[in-house]
Amino acid sequence: MKLKKLKRAFKYIDEKSSKLHYTTCSKGCNHCCYMPVMLSLTEAKYIVEQFGFPKDLELLEKQASKDFFKIIPEDYYKIPLQDRKCVYLINGECSIYPIRPITCRGYFSTSKPENCSTLNNKKAETIIVGAIRMIDIGEARLLPVHLWNLYTGDQK
Ligand code: SF4
Repeated sequence: MKLKKLKRAFKYIDEKSSKLHYTTCSKGCNHCCYMPVMLSLTEAKYIVEQFGFPKDLELLEKQASKDFFKIIPEDYYKIPLQDRKCVYLINGECSIYPIRPITCRGYFSTSKPENCSTLNNKKAETIIVGAIRMIDIGEARLLPVHLWNLYTGDQK
């Protein structure tokens, strides 16, 4: 996905989502930031260009390690919260909010916010209405994997 197309996709999703009045998502709620996030290489590069690499490189490396994400989905939520929190979640807020990935931007819930919680090592029971899909997901990988590859210069 090229940057121009990405910006168009951001705009499209933001316009559509501004008309969704029945979601229960709100500022300050960050339960979904403890779940795995997929993004394209273009998004990863754009984030790094605008905001730099995450401050916690140790956590980034840990999350990018193959073993970390080999964990089967139901066991994923047994990972302690501090280890699976998004590397861009700082003091409970998204530190790259204006250019957060499409996966985050297009994720909306209609169930109670607490249903999205994975605090007690359980999978979220969220009812998702608006997981607006990426237009071109071809080069998509997990956020820490793309970022770590960019950091180390390993683009494979
Ligand atoms: S990029 Fe931002 S919105 Fe997306 S998971 Fe990370 S902190 Fe949350």
